[in-house]
Amino acid sequence: VLARGRAVCKHNGLLILSVLSVIVGCLLGFFLRTQRLSPQEISYFQFPGELLMRMLKMLILPLVVSRNMFPANLVEATFKQYRTKTTPVIKSPRGAAEEVPPRRIVIYGVQEDNGSRVQNFALDLTPPPEIVYKSEPGTSDGMNVLGIVIFSATMGIMLGRMGDSGTPLVSFCQCLNESVMKIVAVAGWYFPFGIVFLIAGKILEMDDPKAVGKKLGFYAVTVVCGLVVHGLLILPLLYFLITKKNPIVFIRGVLQALLIALATSSSSATLPITFKCLLENNHIDRRIARFVLPVGATINMDGTALYEAVAAIFIAQVNNYELDFGQIITISITATAASIGAAGIPQAGLVTMVIVLTSVGLPTDDINLIIAVDWALDRFRTMINVLGDALAAGIMAHICRKDFAQDMGTEKLLPCET
Ligand code: ASP
Repeated sequence: VLARGRAVCKHNGLLILSVLSVIVGCLLGFFLRTQRLSPQEISYFQFPGELLMRMLKMLILPLVVSRNMFPANLVEATFKQYRTKTTPVIKSPRGAAEEVPPRRIVIYGVQEDNGSRVQNFALDLTPPPEIVYKSEPGTSDGMNVLGIVIFSATMGIMLGRMGDSGTPLVSFCQCLNESVMKIVAVAGWYFPFGIVFLIAGKILEMDDPKAVGKKLGFYAVTVVCGLVVHGLLILPLLYFLITKKNPIVFIRGVLQALLIALATSSSSATLPITFKCLLENNHIDRRIARFVLPVGATINMDGTALYEAVAAIFIAQVNNYELDFGQIITISITATAASIGAAGIPQAGLVTMVIVLTSVGLPTDDINLIIAVDWALDRFRTMINVLGDALAAGIMAHICRKDFAQDMGTEKLLPCET
């Protein structure tokens, strides 16, 4: 028994440490609240968590670029699968791009109207001159992951067409990709430590939990219950119905990514770990993972959509505003659209909620009512967002298994990968 226990710990050491770090972070946070630390002491205390966030963000760009910039045969093969399998879901109205004026509009400001959000989303798909960041310089809004994916994939197609002359850049990208994964593996041992301080630091900052609980308890519980049902019932069921595989085994494989999502509240920052979990634990084809995950982290936000709908209904109730059936449907549709527009960064959903509230004429200022609990709900919805992306990659891997199995031979391994 002892030997088996040791083997389990050795195999799942990092995962066990990550689970423990969430528990220790909560306990430490609540204990230190009683010590009444000064704001400066709190900021020192939060420093190791801030380092973890930076470490993860540092890895996103090289990872997304190197994973998508591969020669045309791979990129086109990947796109061929997605063109046929995903267009019914994400087909956009014809001519939408032409309607976008050439001027760039500062995005995601609360005062901005819905039309400009849609336009900015289209502009982000064709990112120059700011390929990397979504926002105007100076407003830190997050990385334009979708723009980077499209830019890198386009480069990949062109590289493939260049034949042998493109090989140096392709080898560079493959080695970059490999080295980033090695950094993730080493940095992984810092993550549990960082998680403790990220979680405890946030608990130290929050308002009085009793007062907040009284005001917003039912709302928060409703959101969490919805997320639990979606994450533990609906998504796994969907995965099972399509793949006929055990979803519990799959979810176990991405547990570490879910814990990082809980700690960081950012599906983009979690990307490197989600990649690692999918490739190493769930053995998903890396061509699928490198396309589905960055796109998913940007536009597939089930948790955010669910939370925005519940929040809008809560705000309607606070205002004694009776919603009819049509308005509830409007809320569901706009919440889904707003979640697509939300970036994979902390509390982005709070900002895009303006779209949902304005769609049924609710006061946007009332977003202030839910801010006190949003930092906590954000963590749970980010977990569901990451889980949704991972399961989507699992489903795509299953659907494309035959095409990709045949295509396997076309992916040349470079010396650094062998
Ligand atoms: N924090 C969420 C994410 O990164 C987005 C949100 O709902 O605020 O997925």
